[in-house]
Amino acid sequence: MDFNLTEEHIMIRDAARDFAKNELLPGVIERDEKQEFPKEQIKKMGELGFLGMMVSPEYGGGGMDTVAYVLAMEEISKIDASASVVMSVNNSLVCWGLEKFGNEEQKQKYLIKLATGESIGAFCLSEPEAGSDATSQRTTAIEKDDHYLLNGTKNWITNGSIADFYIVIAQTDKEKKHKGINAFIVEKGMEGFEIGPKEQKLGIRGSDTHSLNFNDVKVPKENRIGEDGFGFKFAMKTLSGGRIGIAAQALGIAAGAYELAKEYSKVRKAFGTEIMNHQAIAFKLADMHTSIEAARHLVMKAACDKDNGENYDLSGAMAKLFASKTAMDVTVEAVQVHGGNGYVKEYHVERLMRDAKITQIYEGTSEIQKIVISRSILRD
Ligand SMILES: Cc1cc2nc3c(=O)[nH]c(=O)nc-3n(C[C@H](O)[C@H](O)[C@H](O)COP(=O)(O)OP(=O)(O)OC[C@H]3O[C@@H](n4cnc5c(N)ncnc54)[C@H](O)[C@@H]3O)c2cc1C
Repeated sequence: MDFNLTEEHIMIRDAARDFAKNELLPGVIERDEKQEFPKEQIKKMGELGFLGMMVSPEYGGGGMDTVAYVLAMEEISKIDASASVVMSVNNSLVCWGLEKFGNEEQKQKYLIKLATGESIGAFCLSEPEAGSDATSQRTTAIEKDDHYLLNGTKNWITNGSIADFYIVIAQTDKEKKHKGINAFIVEKGMEGFEIGPKEQKLGIRGSDTHSLNFNDVKVPKENRIGEDGFGFKFAMKTLSGGRIGIAAQALGIAAGAYELAKEYSKVRKAFGTEIMNHQAIAFKLADMHTSIEAARHLVMKAACDKDNGENYDLSGAMAKLFASKTAMDVTVEAVQVHGGNGYVKEYHVERLMRDAKITQIYEGTSEIQKIVISRSILRD
């Protein structure tokens, strides 16, 4: 594996780092407390090209590779995981799937707006009775004349109220089980489409999470993505790449907490010396640094696999599993290094600890990643 970054990679990483420090850090504590969506900041991220990084320039994107994307995700997540989840959903779950599997009209109508950040996307798979078991879709899309009639409920949808376009997975033919599932582009404002109340969350509190209700929503036939029955495969393929983004998010949360803990250990004194001089603290930092480096290697491996046209189901799942555990372990220890100060908001590490947990849950829980990994290694 060659992780030598190009000049462009370094430029993108530095631009994301500067943006996070200058634009996301101010107000991040208040937004977390008030569960406030970083609206202005996301608008600027769109203008800077962070919302459609991998989309080809033909469709308004940055034409960058996955390595560039994970570098930027890591930097944004060090400061504000509520902003990086918007970036992750828009880039990997919405734009990527549309560019790869959408038709030309869909790309012209939706992808260009999404890639430039003019519009925001959401990816709607989970339901009250279909989370890890995504095949148990209860949302139905029944074919009628020139449209599908969409009925059902999706929950936990990131960008739920702020999105303009929603990729919705629904069952069109129950008999065919997962082969009777389709993916549709639904527009905000379509008749019968209702947005439920905002979820009150432990972490990534600035992100906008809602349930969605569809009551006889008429979705034009031309809004189906791919061939009839392609929806489940579409969702799995999209999530496989999405996991690389979430792994990078977890890595960023861990790295952000580690950097804060390291700096704090150099200035905080106990027993007449800086706490970094106590071996118990120095060893914690050594463990944090080592696991972050290991997580970064897995994330980069998965990103390189994707860029090189290799299969990335296994490397992406391993990256997400390991990086999300690293995010939990490191943030808990970062709070410990800060002592009492770690427990209050102004030092940031308690927020990072709360934000870390979601990376073990969404886009496939850690248990589901282990299923993906074990199936893959046992098949060989
Ligand atoms: C903040 C937030 C944002 C989200 N954003 C989105 C979004 O934008 N779009 C979207 O579609 N979804 C989204 N989700 C949903 C998320 O992907 C699901 O919560 C997740 O997939 C788990 O599903 P579940 O909550 O139904 O848990 P369940 O599937 O009920 O799982 C409960 C527990 O059982 C375990 N489990 C389940 N099946 C197995 C098994 N076969 N073997 C071993 N263990 C198992 C799970 O790992 C978990 O520990 C979001 C969730 C949250 C909390």
